[in-house]
Amino acid sequence: MAATVYQVDPKGDILLHFPGSKPGSALAVDAKSHGQQPQPAVAAPAPAPAPARTEPWSPAASVSTVTTTTVCNLSAGDDSSDRPEGSRSPEHRHAVDLRVSSSVLCLVSPVFSAMLNGPMAEGAAFRAPGSPRPFPITLPEDDGDAFAILANVFHHRIEQLSFLPPTAVLLSLAVLVDKYACAPALMPYGVLWLQRAANRPHEDEYAGLLGRCNLLLFAYVLDLPWQFAQLSWDVLLMHRQLLKDETDYGLELPIPPEHELLRHDLHGEIARRKARLRRDIHNMLMDPVSRVTSQLATHGHAPGPTCPNAALAIGNYMALLDANNLSPWRPQFETDSFTAIINRAIEVAADAGDNPMLFFEMCSRYRCACDTMAYGEGVHLARELGRLLKGAWEWKLWVCLDCLKNGGESRDACRVKHW
Ligand SMILES: [Zn+2]
Ligand SMILES: [Zn+2]
Repeated sequence: MAATVYQVDPKGDILLHFPGSKPGSALAVDAKSHGQQPQPAVAAPAPAPAPARTEPWSPAASVSTVTTTTVCNLSAGDDSSDRPEGSRSPEHRHAVDLRVSSSVLCLVSPVFSAMLNGPMAEGAAFRAPGSPRPFPITLPEDDGDAFAILANVFHHRIEQLSFLPPTAVLLSLAVLVDKYACAPALMPYGVLWLQRAANRPHEDEYAGLLGRCNLLLFAYVLDLPWQFAQLSWDVLLMHRQLLKDETDYGLELPIPPEHELLRHDLHGEIARRKARLRRDIHNMLMDPVSRVTSQLATHGHAPGPTCPNAALAIGNYMALLDANNLSPWRPQFETDSFTAIINRAIEVAADAGDNPMLFFEMCSRYRCACDTMAYGEGVHLARELGRLLKGAWEWKLWVCLDCLKNGGESRDACRVKHW
């Protein structure tokens, strides 16, 4: 199988070979045991936290990846017009060859550094007198198209980078970054791509829940705390799922809790914030009512007679919430996204801002509970709600990446300040 060759560094001393998928072949290779085979083309050693693979190591497959290594002197892009940039699922990967510089790989990745400079077989073979240049290294597990993007970043071939890769490609990059421990080298582009993705609020690819979750995982792997915090807040606002109470952590996201890139309890953190946000919104919707009752409660009549004006305004307000699916006790309130609830509440509060039926003021009843109020004082419940809603988008109950990773132990060191 002829591989697409990217001359990332035309004078590079390494030829990374990605065999691509072959029908029925076992692509996943136990890299560690493979790495100890004295072969000219060898797999990279997997870092310690590499996810476990279910496919057994297959000597036949690893040998075939060696024999299909084909160095074609095609320029990059000859074969690329019919396919989008980036990654493919393991069953649909292309064979790709990347000519790169070992110095660059060793500078950006401690994993490559250990492989090429250390005592491992591939390093010894690479350094042996008379060893071929470029020296072939086969990485049978990796996505060659995604690695091409990474290699272009590392070699400063900026003109080869796309403006904004699809989120699935970003996740494929995250897999490689995680495996080769090279997050710092990709960070500037990670920041740039996430910024561009945030500027596309109407594209489902980036603004939908799946897209946002993919971006969140990308920010998690690249260790970008500010972007991670913002994205976690977006996910929290968009998520729709009934959680019974604060101990119900069965949160479902497009990213499963057992995702190979996820090593912390992201789902639990989002679920806890979801429960808290739900409680806060519930309290906010009921706060105008509390404003009225607190005016009455301070009176000396304990328990005072109910003020008919107060009862009327509160009743009208509750009916207004109920008619707009904003009653915290209705099932829809539990299953709507917070974005939908807050937007609906803002609209309702604005529309009802002039409705006199929602205005509570002192009544004329003798010795009524409202008679501590001064004449002219009053509470308009919808306007009060509108005032409270102004701050709702700023609550930012985001997940702190540092707290997530260190269990919240050293909050002073968190890169995004929070309480
Ligand atoms: Zn009264
Ligand atoms: Zn923190």
